[in-house]
Amino acid sequence: MTETDIQDLRAKLRGELIAPGDASYDAARKVYNAMIDRRPALIARCADVADVMASVNFASEKNLLLAVRGGGHNGPGLGVCDGGLVIDLSRLKGIRVDQKNRTVRVEGGCLWGEVDHATAPFGLAVPSGFISTTGVGGLTLGGGIGYLSRRNGLTIDNLRGVDIVLADGRLVTASADENADLFWAVRGGGGNFGVITSFLFQASPVGPVYGGPMFWPLEKGAEVMRFWRDFILKAPEDINGWFGFATVPPVPMFPAEHHLKKVALVTWCYTGDPAKADEVFKPIRQFSPPLMDFCGPIPFPVLQSLFDGLYPAGLQWYWKADFFKELNETTIGLHMKYAERLPSPHSTMHLYPINGAAGRVGKGDTAFSFREAKFAEVVVGVDPDPANNPRLIQWAKDYWLALHPFSAGGGYINMMMDEGEDNVKAAYRDNYAKLAAVKSKYDPGNLFRVNQNVKPA
Ligand SMILES: Cc1cc2nc3c(=O)[nH]c(=O)nc-3n(C[C@H](O)[C@H](O)[C@H](O)COP(=O)(O)OP(=O)(O)OC[C@H]3O[C@@H](n4cnc5c(N)ncnc54)[C@H](O)[C@@H]3O)c2cc1C
Repeated sequence: MTETDIQDLRAKLRGELIAPGDASYDAARKVYNAMIDRRPALIARCADVADVMASVNFASEKNLLLAVRGGGHNGPGLGVCDGGLVIDLSRLKGIRVDQKNRTVRVEGGCLWGEVDHATAPFGLAVPSGFISTTGVGGLTLGGGIGYLSRRNGLTIDNLRGVDIVLADGRLVTASADENADLFWAVRGGGGNFGVITSFLFQASPVGPVYGGPMFWPLEKGAEVMRFWRDFILKAPEDINGWFGFATVPPVPMFPAEHHLKKVALVTWCYTGDPAKADEVFKPIRQFSPPLMDFCGPIPFPVLQSLFDGLYPAGLQWYWKADFFKELNETTIGLHMKYAERLPSPHSTMHLYPINGAAGRVGKGDTAFSFREAKFAEVVVGVDPDPANNPRLIQWAKDYWLALHPFSAGGGYINMMMDEGEDNVKAAYRDNYAKLAAVKSKYDPGNLFRVNQNVKPA
């Protein structure tokens, strides 16, 4: 790649082309997980679809490693690469809500908080995750597990179509009626097939909800886990709640006597009739009165962003993930053992329910395979200080390894590190062969390989 090549690309872009030495380079190459420190040769901060097409063609012609950055939240930092070109979508922020059809057109660089902000005034929401700072791009392409999964399915179950720039530089639409194989693949298959410049989602009515976290002392963790398991497997689908282990942050919203105590928590989201909320939550509060109870009426976008402040960008993150079909006494015992050893105040383990609407979709209907699993587990070592990384990583690996023999056999690709081909295959099971076939059709040269990579068949 010569200086003239770079000048040629710069001339083609309406957005910026950022190179090492530019004032904005260090900020532009940073991603959410501070454990990732990569130095791309060029960052194309695209302003429109034409910029994305020019950048894809440039990477392909010059045979450059190519990374695509949506919200930059990916654990193993798959939105940035060493050397090569990064297509940074963060300027693609357009959102248009169609009230009549209850659909939302979202450009590829949006974050979920931006979508919530746009849809809330219309009493609508698109099912996303449990935090508002994640990118729409990566979260959607991997599946999307969140507060509305039991009621409305995964994020991909609410995706109606995408505009995608392919490896050959063409922009096409993929939907149930057009390029249906590609539409199947992007619903769970990650960034393997091209750059999504816009997503079309079905939104659902979501008014003010009743939700928030309830905390119990860690000594009650096993009891809470059993109760939560039995409750959430049978609960009406307008109730969601994820289980977690955490440490009470030493901040004023929590009583000082509980600061830095280890706890079990369930963060609830009830989207049903507000008049019935007290009745719905009565058995939960009665089974074991929480140490702290922050569950109550709350606007949906506020619930979605409740944990944003606790987990700002710039912390060290190490993730491990698995799906589970059940939670038995052996696994509960193992969970308790590792919860007692949480290696830092930010470190955590979450179990997300994926039953209800998310579980009713067939395992071959989209690329996301583990539809029959009931729980998605993620073990996360997090800390501001890189010196603690060996401890965080060891804890997360040990925890995951201890539970893995009881798992459904694979994990959620959006909550894995860069763990190699076998783990990607385990995440997709029977869907891998079809994904590889679609990959060979649309990206035979594996231009899009900075992701949980599916190799062309
Ligand atoms: C604090 C935190 C909370 C999270 N909570 C949840 C949760 O509740 N539910 C859940 O399901 N997941 C959750 N995740 C995981 C999240 O889904 C993944 O980290 C996801 O990869 C983030 O997407 P992104 O666009 O921000 O990431 P990026 O790092 O920008 O990209 C991730 C991958 O997606 C590809 N990609 C992104 N956008 C596009 C696009 N427009 N076109 C093509 N490829 C693209 C990238 O190339 C890369 O391979 C969470 C992550 C964090 C850090």
